[in-house]
Formats: sequence, structure tokens, C-alpha cells
Amino acid sequence: QANAASKPHYTITTDSTYPPFEFQSKNGKYIGIDMDMLKAIAKKEGFTYTLKPMSFNAGVQAVQAGQVDGILAGMTITDERKQTFDFSEPYYKTGVVVAISAKDKTVKSLKDLKGKTVALKTGTAGATYAESIQKKYGFKATYYNDSNIMYNAVITGNAVAAFEDQPVMLYAIKQGTALKIISKQVANGGWYGFGVKKGSQAALLKSFNAGYKKIVADGTYDKIVNKYLGDTG
Ligand code: GLN
Repeated sequence: QANAASKPHYTITTDSTYPPFEFQSKNGKYIGIDMDMLKAIAKKEGFTYTLKPMSFNAGVQAVQAGQVDGILAGMTITDERKQTFDFSEPYYKTGVVVAISAKDKTVKSLKDLKGKTVALKTGTAGATYAESIQKKYGFKATYYNDSNIMYNAVITGNAVAAFEDQPVMLYAIKQGTALKIISKQVANGGWYGFGVKKGSQAALLKSFNAGYKKIVADGTYDKIVNKYLGDTG
């Protein structure tokens, strides 16, 4: 019989930096759409958690290794990942865009990437998409664990383009990152979901979904998105 006084406790990993979904405030506290959402859901469902931020790729592996119970990291639900993860209800629409230096006047489309080096974030949907078109467009790839470092590689000229999720790229540009998006269309579209290792953590996943439903119904979810994205969210 469950003891009502002891709340379930989970270990959740997130990306060390993926604004506006997760990033550190000036005092070092993790905030962002994912973080505020998790906090609100935990409160509604009566569970507690320890947050373990790390690179996205390390987080994916930590879930699979059973070192953490779940991952909330702007993670795209893909068919490939569904073979090793169970996902929550989808909560935010995404897709991959290509960004170049704001100063670059030479790269206008994917064709202009021929023979050049692009910056990719290890283990991401953006990297998977880039790899799927790499032969066709004839570019080289260099890998980073962190979105910021990937952006800097393009800004400093170590790479000509980065492949990143649209909401994250738009937010970074709005915050002053000196990049611009060249792709007209979003590729590899999908939705973000909270992930757990396939076949495990049924109670956590159930709580997450139940809490998510509640914060959507009572307006908390919209309030959180608006807090970070304003009317453009
Ligand atoms: N949405 C992308 C993915 O799931 C990137 C996630 C991230 O970098 N935190 O692969």
C-alpha cells in the first residue's frame, strides 16, 4: 500500500542549455518552458524530482542506461526513438531549420553548402536531418554537444551553417545571436515530448501526462509559453 506521506521521487535530465526550453537564470536556477512545465506538473501530481542537466546526447544515453528516470529537453518524438523510448503526449511543435552567419552573403540555399563544413549538435534531430541530405549536397560536418558552441562555430567561421530546431533558433536570433535562417521550409517536423526508457517508468509517464492535461486545462501551460515567447509563441 502506498504511503501517502512519501511522494514519488524521480531523477530527470535536461539539456544544459536549450533556451527558451531550458536555461539558467542569472542566479543559476534552471528556467524555461520545459522547466516551468515540469515544476507545475510535479506540483499537480504530487511527485518530487532532482534535475540533472547535461548535454542532450548524454541525457539520451543516461535514460537508456537507467541512470535517470526521464528526459525533458526539447526532445523530438521520432519513429526511430520510439523504438527505445516511451514518450508523453506531444507538447510543442518543432522542425529543423538551417542558419548561417548574419554576415554571410554567399550561402543562399542548401546547394551552396557543397564542399563546406556545417556544424551539428550530436544526437539531435537536426543532425539526423543533415546526415540524411549530406551526400546529396556534398557538405562536411563537425559535431558539438552544445547549441551555443554550435552557433559560435558558425559565427566565428569554423562552419558555414548550423542545423537547429526552429523555435530554438528563432529565440536565439531574437536574443541577439548573430545568425540568420536560410531555409524557407522547416524539415523533419515533429513535436516535443517527455521521454522515458521504453517499457519502464509507466507511473512517471502517467503522472506527466495527467499533470500536463491539467496545466493545459487551467491555462498554466499557455501562461508558461507566453512568459518566454510572448505573443509570438
Ligand atoms: N529537438 C532536437 C532533438 O530532439 C534537439 C534537442 C536538443 O538539442 N535539446 O533531437
